[in-house]
Amino acid sequence: MSLKNYIRDIQGFPKEGIVFKDITPLLIDVNARKECLEILLSTVKDKKINKVIGVESRGFFFGMLLAQELNVGFIPVRKPNKLPFDTISASYDLEYGNDTLEIHIDAIQKGDRILIHDDVLATGGTAKAVCELVERLGGVIVQCNFLMEITFLKGREKIVGNEIFAAMTY
Ligand code: IMP
Repeated sequence: MSLKNYIRDIQGFPKEGIVFKDITPLLIDVNARKECLEILLSTVKDKKINKVIGVESRGFFFGMLLAQELNVGFIPVRKPNKLPFDTISASYDLEYGNDTLEIHIDAIQKGDRILIHDDVLATGGTAKAVCELVERLGGVIVQCNFLMEITFLKGREKIVGNEIFAAMTY
């Protein structure tokens, strides 16, 4: 069965006019989850990645699974004031207002080869901010991968120059 059968559209969440892609059916089904993980892994296996970033919060699920399978470290990138140690931050624009993401200053060493993972690539603002954090700490972005890409929002244009992979496209 197609992985898309495990993604549920929720109309009007978190606010009116938005169709939210709900990944919880994919998380709950062990076979679909394994298949999705294998698809993501198949594109990064031989790329000498040595750390995986998961973006709060839905990027944590598969981000940690990827790190475990690749046998490398996991780095959480989080919303403001959640990480306890010293951080650097990057802000990005939302439709209304802006948001900020943070990373621990010692999470990445210069030259680390980083896989960035999040659940959804939409407008690309989130991914762009994470790329900025990695570059400021001297990391090398090997790939940005996602469970799904919402192509009409053109998020990949915000992170051009990076390898981008999505297990599903809409
Ligand atoms: P972007 O910054 O516009 O690319 O939005 C990507 C971020 O918003 C990701 O961290 C996603 O978790 C979240 N996001 C955007 N749209 C959806 C959706 O339909 N379902 C789940 N998460 C979403």
